[in-house]
Amino acid sequence: MPRLKDYSREELEALMESWGERPFHGRQIFAGLFKRGVGSVEEMTDLPLRLREKLCEFEPFDLLKPIASQSAPDGTIKTLFELQDGSAIESVWIPEETHAVQCLSTQVGCPLECTFCATGQMGFKRNLSSGEIVDQVVQFRRMKSSIALRNLVFMGMGEPLLNYDNLVKAIRILSAADGAAISQRRMTVSTAGIVPGMRRLAGEGLKIKLAISLNAPTDELRDQLMPINKKYPLADLMKAALEFQKSSNHRITFEYALMPGVNDTTLMIQALRNFLVRIPSKLNLIPLNPIDIKFQPETNWDSIFDRFYRVFEKERIVLTMRRSRGQEIKAACGQLASGSETQHR
Ligand code: SAH
Repeated sequence: MPRLKDYSREELEALMESWGERPFHGRQIFAGLFKRGVGSVEEMTDLPLRLREKLCEFEPFDLLKPIASQSAPDGTIKTLFELQDGSAIESVWIPEETHAVQCLSTQVGCPLECTFCATGQMGFKRNLSSGEIVDQVVQFRRMKSSIALRNLVFMGMGEPLLNYDNLVKAIRILSAADGAAISQRRMTVSTAGIVPGMRRLAGEGLKIKLAISLNAPTDELRDQLMPINKKYPLADLMKAALEFQKSSNHRITFEYALMPGVNDTTLMIQALRNFLVRIPSKLNLIPLNPIDIKFQPETNWDSIFDRFYRVFEKERIVLTMRRSRGQEIKAACGQLASGSETQHR
């Protein structure tokens, strides 16, 4: 059964034409699904009755069903969604002072097996469709927060660039003025370093930003933490990052989850500096969110930041540190894992 939310605007127009209807109705359905976020045919009151009757066959429109939500004291909300095939994914809503950021999943599980990441440990089930990616935004908007959604980060479960076509289709729907109308400039795709995907994305003509999960500045260490590095080592990663940087004219963000004694030694900080000076970049230090006992999070946060700052202050590299949000509800980076959640339920 075709699922309307997996259609682009152009595909909905073509569908209408194939039914002998005017393509204009395809645009109305598009706006209904993604701009107004309607859940049923009855709410599509702008369509002629005969078309509404026909569309009943396509119900339910929603591809995701919220089945559990948790809120942290800092206002972060993590919601577990069930998909039509019974799998589950998580999405996180993070309120800032004036606006909110939503963190989206792109796959059920993840094939990359990064050793420090909870999603990586649950294995890979399947890619999300474009509709399933977009529906995370539609569903959260329906929950009506007082703060407006402004930024989207593709940093939830999965590797976005291994689900390339659906990712790009979702970005186009999310940014369309008659879709979810979120500016591409406020979207960040985060990758573990899928080099061919980064190259392709550089030529896609989107205005999105790119973040690269670096986590280690040498191939030796990165091979251990992120097995994908064996396929796309740091030299190749840098070339692709430079390509994207030139096409977007923005700094590339490098995410660096701190693993005390592993990637934060003086030697590692020096190696990191030598790597990053080659590209206009931002270094985002992230406290490691513990998923098991293998890695322990940093305790003396100020002193570690100082140690990085001393090495980076003379360079033209922006150094930031991310506050960990929603840690109490395992909603922070690397803690999303629908499998175990579903079992607990
Ligand atoms: N696959 C993509 C997006 C999902 S991971 C990527 O790798 O970028 C999103 C971010 O969470 C990455 O920067 C990753 O390095 C980080 N991360 C994973 N596990 C973590 C953990 N336990 N603590 C802190 N950050 C983690």
